[in-house]
Amino acid sequence: MIDLRSDTVTRPTAEMIKAMALAEVGDDVLGDDPTVIRLQERAAELTGKEAALFVPSGCMANLVSLLTLTGRNEEVICGSEAHVYTSEVGGTAILGNVFLRPLANLPSGQIDLEILSGAIRCEVYTPITRVVSLENTHNRCSGAVLPLEYVRQVAAMCAERGVHLHLDGARIFNASVASGASVRDYAIHARVVNFCLSKGLGAPVGSLVCGEAGFIAECKRTRRMLGGGMRQAGILAAAGLYALDHHVERLAEDHWNAKRLAEGLAKLPGIQIDPSQIETNIVIFGAPDSGRFVQIMSENGVLLSRSGANVRAVTHLGVDEAQIDKAIQLAASVL
Ligand SMILES: *Cc1c(COP(=O)(O)O)cnc(C)c1O
Repeated sequence: MIDLRSDTVTRPTAEMIKAMALAEVGDDVLGDDPTVIRLQERAAELTGKEAALFVPSGCMANLVSLLTLTGRNEEVICGSEAHVYTSEVGGTAILGNVFLRPLANLPSGQIDLEILSGAIRCEVYTPITRVVSLENTHNRCSGAVLPLEYVRQVAAMCAERGVHLHLDGARIFNASVASGASVRDYAIHARVVNFCLSKGLGAPVGSLVCGEAGFIAECKRTRRMLGGGMRQAGILAAAGLYALDHHVERLAEDHWNAKRLAEGLAKLPGIQIDPSQIETNIVIFGAPDSGRFVQIMSENGVLLSRSGANVRAVTHLGVDEAQIDKAIQLAASVL
């Protein structure tokens, strides 16, 4: 099987499993798991924040961040294609009485600055805008990288208007490796930044919420409320530390493989894709009868997923160049 459904399908490597097996653990709800503490310190350092909190998933990282930043009857502005809007069951509304207000995402994953600025509101008739949430890289915009300058401009506008900037950096390490800007360069502009260990970094479980110390202390209460406090979580944190030590620079290989896949697919009749748009590890393309295309590919050993009417392929550490070439060959014969 060549599994291109997502970079979440990665299995822990033998070395990672060894690090997990040898992890020193405590009770993280009581706050004394030394491996979780080390991971949180590492995440804070990488993002240039005072503190960080280990949570079970990227969805919970977004929920913890947004519920801690907002109160009842406030709103979070996000992109219309943002993961928090399209793929998290409207959790902020259900659990926090906080509205998600989507504004059209450009294909670049950005939201037009003027539209964004015009949408921020604080009137007697409306919910109060408390947060702007950006996503980097942008999952449904084919892994697009937000330019540092754009993030800086949004942050300046948020500061001027008294609104918090939240960065859903599930794949912020991909953004960093692709753009050359450090994770810290991006994070400095946001009040809170989240990242996933369980995507391209290849750990089995976990995300980090990073921000000021007082804010992270509040986040810990929110995590508890959501049922996300874990006990001997050092076993999982050890995988995250291993991933941060060994799986960051290699993301460039995933980007290279994604580009190779996009270039191969672009030559096939009926496939719609512009390979020059592929910046990281997510390849979204049009195919004739896409549902059937995905089904026949999977029956023949290449697993893909769908993104709306399009097809999505994601590269990761479990896929090498030879497998990418096989996937392209199979696509040609299926078409
Ligand atoms: C995957 C993803 C999440 C959520 O992560 P889970 O681990 O699936 O909960 C959040 N935001 C973005 C942009 C993602 O791609």
